Amino acid sequence: MKWKRIMVCALLGGMVLAGYGQTRVIAHRGYWKDAAGAQNSLASLREAARAGVYGSEFDVQLTKDSVAVVNHDDDIAGQVISETVYPQLQELRLKNGEVLPTLDAYLAAGKEQPEVQLILEIKPHKTELEENTLVRIIVDRVKALGMERQVEYISFSLNVCRQLAARTPSSSISYLRSDIAPKELKEMGINGIDYHYKALLQKPEWIAEAHRLGMTVNAWTVNEQETIRQLKEQQVDFVTTDRPVEASEWVK
Ligand code: MG
Repeated sequence: MKWKRIMVCALLGGMVLAGYGQTRVIAHRGYWKDAAGAQNSLASLREAARAGVYGSEFDVQLTKDSVAVVNHDDDIAGQVISETVYPQLQELRLKNGEVLPTLDAYLAAGKEQPEVQLILEIKPHKTELEENTLVRIIVDRVKALGMERQVEYISFSLNVCRQLAARTPSSSISYLRSDIAPKELKEMGINGIDYHYKALLQKPEWIAEAHRLGMTVNAWTVNEQETIRQLKEQQVDFVTTDRPVEASEWVK
């Protein structure tokens, strides 16, 4: 009887330590405060770490000469990233004066902030070949740096998620497009859903289904206190937000 009680206490303690049942905050493209801030910059990652959030999200895509760079839009200063070689992009500056970060620079900065999870979004590309190349480059780099536990993957591309499941099956991999039931994803080796908050609130049964299957549930991009309250009530694990500091209060 006594042992049973100890086991239950240990289990509950473990769940508390793992943050089970809490809704945690992910800073969308880092913490950049307002329109003047530089999204996806190294500074935004450091600010997110300083804000004490669970994770900091960023977007990765491939240049024409297969360099992985961090940027949300598929073009920057009028140059389409997938059609431009990296030396041409190297001259560009972000709003805050930083050079366009490479994946390598971003991971190096993340390694210095081990308390924040790196939520790495792999952007869809025109061909599966480009996507597969990018997945290989990213996973190899993360493994070489020994950062498998700090990096979590998200993508709107089902092909990218499946490639990740094949190459790094024990990583956290979440699909973003809000259109596939958790059970189907789980069968592909994808272990999380990261869906638009309206999709989750319209289909709360998907939240329950994901949890039953041991999958995580993340909602994007949530900037209103009332919506965060509703998602927390539905036991969503993570909210991705442009307002990480306020959201950290709202999820309490
Ligand atoms: Mg993103």
